[in-house]
Amino acid sequence: MPSCLEASRLLSRALDEPLGLLDQALLRVHLSMCGRCAEVQRQLGTLGELTRSAIEADDADDPPAGPPAPTRPTSPDAS
Ligand SMILES: [Zn+2]
Repeated sequence: MPSCLEASRLLSRALDEPLGLLDQALLRVHLSMCGRCAEVQRQLGTLGELTRSAIEADDADDPPAGPPAPTRPTSPDAS
């Protein structure tokens, strides 16, 4: 199991690039046992959410896809 130092390195690396499966697994094991690192991960995760929604907001100048198709009432010949 990785030390807290290793775990924090993995956490910050995960912000830049996807972790390998082994690293992810090690990190998860550590986080499940270490409240402090889990808290750090939670904070970094929140940061990641913010970054992601900022990117989505930046993408929002695409024209809207139009109104949703109206839902048809139950067709009489649906039997
Ligand atoms: Zn730890």
